[in-house]
Amino acid sequence: MLKGKSAVVTGSTSGIGLGIARVLASKGVNIMLNGFGDAAEIEKIRSGLESEFGVRAAYNAADISKPSAIKEMIDTTVETFGSIDVLVSNAGIQFTAAIEDFPEDKWNAIIAINLSGVFWGMHYALPYMKKQGWGRLINIASAHGLVASPNKSAYVAAKHGVVGLTKVAALETAELDITANAICPGWVLTPLVEKQIKDMAAKDGISEKDAELKLLSEKQPSKKFTTPEELGELAAFLCTDAAAQMTGVPLPMDGGWTAQ
Ligand code: NAD
Repeated sequence: MLKGKSAVVTGSTSGIGLGIARVLASKGVNIMLNGFGDAAEIEKIRSGLESEFGVRAAYNAADISKPSAIKEMIDTTVETFGSIDVLVSNAGIQFTAAIEDFPEDKWNAIIAINLSGVFWGMHYALPYMKKQGWGRLINIASAHGLVASPNKSAYVAAKHGVVGLTKVAALETAELDITANAICPGWVLTPLVEKQIKDMAAKDGISEKDAELKLLSEKQPSKKFTTPEELGELAAFLCTDAAAQMTGVPLPMDGGWTAQ
């Protein structure tokens, strides 16, 4: 039933976004990839989606911290595929420091990409979705959209903001065939988290394997990472008719992190 629809997945050159793009493509959804990286690697991902899943895939290099670039990407998606049915706002960055040590540029970048980028994506995609009469807004928040951790002020503020923003979008579209939901992953083993594991291993003088287990044990009772594929399947479910009455919901996939 998703065959022939089209999705923008921001930050899909790596990690969770790539996992979601692959699952949506496997259901027949045309994909607009976005994110940074090596041009040849990105082309390999793009052509790989087309050959593996028989969908159309394109790439747009929009910097999600820039509203005008987001507008251009969404307009180009509609020109390329004829519609924008699904917007997965996933691009995100992390930086850790205590509030008094947090650099101004890092605060501004995290808010611009992790929070404002989600707003501008919905701002530019919603007019098309309303005209089409169908749409799915899927915002990748975090367990940190529901609970906090020290040294992550900007990230936690942005992700709590994404959860609130998602609820507003759900209310503004409630009578339409458009839903807005937030997915709240726990730890997922992606480059974003690999950096935190390396930092922990260096700081505590332990192996990266031990740092992985320490990181999981502190927060995620399952002691297993959530995977990009699992998150992709949840995103795909949100695009089905069975999820039509599910809107404004933050959905944890966190091995029990936020149940504590
Ligand atoms: P990642 O570093 O593997 O991927 C991030 C993606 O965003 C990359 O494609 C990168 O190029 C892109 N990106 C970064 N800045 C961008 C910008 N300015 N413009 C366009 N693209 C940009 O990270 P990930 O772990 O896959 O994270 C994806 C999302 O999931 C983020 O929003 C993150 O906060 C969230 N998340 C991750 C975890 C986790 O444990 N990995 C947990 C909860 C939430």
